[in-house]
Amino acid sequence: MISKDFFLKEDSHCVALGLACHKIFGDAWLTYEPRTVYEGLKNRGFGEITEQNANKINAFRVAKNTILPWMDHESFEKTVLGFLGLTPNFMLREPLDVGQCMVGINILNAIQQVPYSFNVKRYIAACAKNDEIDFLPEPLTFCMEYLCSPMYKCLDCGSVETDDLEDGKCDVCVARYEDGTVNGLPDPGRENFGSNIQRFMPYDYAPIATNFQRLASISIDLVQLGESYVDIQVGKLLSYNEFSKSFSHKLDIQLREVLR
Ligand SMILES: [Zn+2]
Repeated sequence: MISKDFFLKEDSHCVALGLACHKIFGDAWLTYEPRTVYEGLKNRGFGEITEQNANKINAFRVAKNTILPWMDHESFEKTVLGFLGLTPNFMLREPLDVGQCMVGINILNAIQQVPYSFNVKRYIAACAKNDEIDFLPEPLTFCMEYLCSPMYKCLDCGSVETDDLEDGKCDVCVARYEDGTVNGLPDPGRENFGSNIQRFMPYDYAPIATNFQRLASISIDLVQLGESYVDIQVGKLLSYNEFSKSFSHKLDIQLREVLR
């Protein structure tokens, strides 16, 4: 049963709003003009939709009708802002914080199962950097390799590079890119060079991950943290996690109402 004020409430969740539209209009609503949807709601006694909820419904439609938010970081950013009820400014870059990324990924995963492009993963890692966050918990862990990329140091020539090596051989010592081809293979005759590499991570995020995971399941009011680097990271992540959990909780409750 969808309450008559569901489209007017500030805390209505975008997925619940979308599913409410399915229930009211049938699947065809996804092809309607937005204005037709709003008029239809009004005519059925649901009142004049708020701008916030219109933003949520528009973002839901983008994620239901296209895979743009999975492919392109700008679409991802604007769609997530829409999910949150905000009005995106398409002229500006509006970096999300890590909490917003968590909410956005959970919502996208609930709408469609699509693999995320390199472009979106890199964007999420950049948001974390911008936010001074060094570890990404679930549901963002899949972007961790772009936030803290594995590196290698070549003990023969001294070069330090991102570890994207498929054959485990130093790019410089095998002259991988020097013959002008882009096949990624060692220069002929240099196949036996470059194996003397040491792999390493730019920093150790394990203490943040361990402490976050230990504390994430207990009530945030009971958590006491100090002012160390790890505690500050964990504290920020716990508050983002609360933000994200509040959306999931809201959705559970509202879906019970909408689908009843
Ligand atoms: Zn080397």
